[in-house]
Amino acid sequence: MSKVLVIDTSLRPLDPIHPAQARQLLRNGKAAIFRRFPFTLILKQARPETSVQPLRIKIDPGAKKTGIAIVNDITGIVVFAAELQHRGFAIRESLTSRRQLRRSRRNRKTRYRQPRFDNRKRSNGWLAPSLMSRIHNIETWVKKLIQLVPITAMSQELVRFDTQLMQNPDIQGKEYQQGTLAGYETREYLLEKFGRKCAYCDKQDLPLQIEHIAPRAKGGSNRISNLALSCEKCNLKKGTKDIKEFLKKDPVRLKKIEAQAKKPLADTAAVNAARFKLLEVLKSTGLPVETGSGGLTKFNRTRQNLEKTHWIDAAVVGKSTPEKLIISCVKPLSIQAVGHGSRQSCRTNKYGFPSRHVPREKIHFGFQTGDIVKAVVKTGKKVGTYVGKVAVRSSGSFNISTKNGLVQGISHKFCKRIHAKHGYSYAV
Ligand SMILES: [Zn+2]
Repeated sequence: MSKVLVIDTSLRPLDPIHPAQARQLLRNGKAAIFRRFPFTLILKQARPETSVQPLRIKIDPGAKKTGIAIVNDITGIVVFAAELQHRGFAIRESLTSRRQLRRSRRNRKTRYRQPRFDNRKRSNGWLAPSLMSRIHNIETWVKKLIQLVPITAMSQELVRFDTQLMQNPDIQGKEYQQGTLAGYETREYLLEKFGRKCAYCDKQDLPLQIEHIAPRAKGGSNRISNLALSCEKCNLKKGTKDIKEFLKKDPVRLKKIEAQAKKPLADTAAVNAARFKLLEVLKSTGLPVETGSGGLTKFNRTRQNLEKTHWIDAAVVGKSTPEKLIISCVKPLSIQAVGHGSRQSCRTNKYGFPSRHVPREKIHFGFQTGDIVKAVVKTGKKVGTYVGKVAVRSSGSFNISTKNGLVQGISHKFCKRIHAKHGYSYAV
C-alpha cells in the first residue's frame, strides 16, 4: 500500500502516514476521510505545529500516459505514485466529428459563400487541443497534490537526451557501451536520430547496437557523427568493412546514412513544444523545477535495477534521484482523464441526423452523472449495497455501474455520494 495522505484541521498538508496508522486514526474517530482518490484523511482535532518532511513531485510526461511520483529525497521512499492516462485521441475525434457536423449543416442551410479560411490567427505558442489537454491534466494533478502533500520541489523529464554530455570529447569509445550516463544519453540520441531502427536494414523492435560507421580498426573516431545504430546481424555482417564497401550495392542508403550522421546535434535534438509548455506551467506554481533528460532517467532506472513503468520512470527523473529508491510498498493509482462531458444538447445518430435531445440540467436530486455513489437499498426487489459510478435520470431512478455490472432503477433516496465527478476516473 502506498502511504495515506493527511491534512490537518486548517487543510495544511502533513507527513503522509502508513495505512495501519490511518486505520487506527479512523477507528478512534480522530480523523475522517477527506477524499477517496487519492486517499486522504483529515484530522478532527487541531494539533501543535510540527515540521513536515519536504517531498518532491516528479513527472515523466508521455503521449498516452504520464507517470507521477512523490519522493522523499532524503530517505528515498516513494510516498505516492500514479499513472495518468490522457485523452488526446478522444479530443481529436470529437473535434473532427464536430467539424464534420458543422460542415454538413452549413452545406445544407447556407447559400454558396466564398471560403474565408485564413481569417483567423493563432496566438504565439499555440498547441493543438489534444496536446493542451495533456498539459492541463498534469497541471490539475500537480495542483491537487500540492494541496494534500507537503511538496517543496518538482522534477520533470524535459528532453530525450542531453546534448552537452555527449559532445564532451573526453568520452572514450568503451564508455559509450558500458552503462555510463554519457552512454545512455548517446543511445537515446542515436535512437532518435535513426528513428529507432537499424540503419542498414530498417528492422525495428529488436535490440540495437552502437556501431562505428568508419570502423575503429581503420581509424574511425568515437565522435558521435561516426556512430550509427544497427541490429546484431548487420553489425556482424559489416564487421570491419568500411561503409562505402559494405553498401556498395545500395548507394541510396549509403547517401542517406552519411547525411544522417553528419547532421548537427541541434537540428536533430527533438525539441518537444508540449514538454516546454509543461515546464512553463510547472514553474508558474512558484516551486523550484528540476529538469532531466530521458537518457538520465534510463540510466537511473537501470542502475537501480527497476522495472520499466510510467510511475517508476517518473520516480527516477533528474539528478536529485536518491541512490536507493524504496518502492516495495507502492501501489500506483491509475487515473484516467475522461473529460467533463459534452455541451451538445442535440445528439446525432451515426449519420449526423439529430436523434435525441439532452436536457440542459445536469444535476438531478443533487447528483450528477459520473459521481461515485454508495447506495444501500433496504426494501424492494433490489435489496443490497451498490458502489459505483452513477448515471442520473430526471425521474430520480438512477443507474449504477458497479464492479459486478450495471444495476438499473435505484432511487436517488438510497444514494450517498462518496466522490464527486471531476473529469477523472480511477482503477485501483
Ligand atoms: Zn540490420
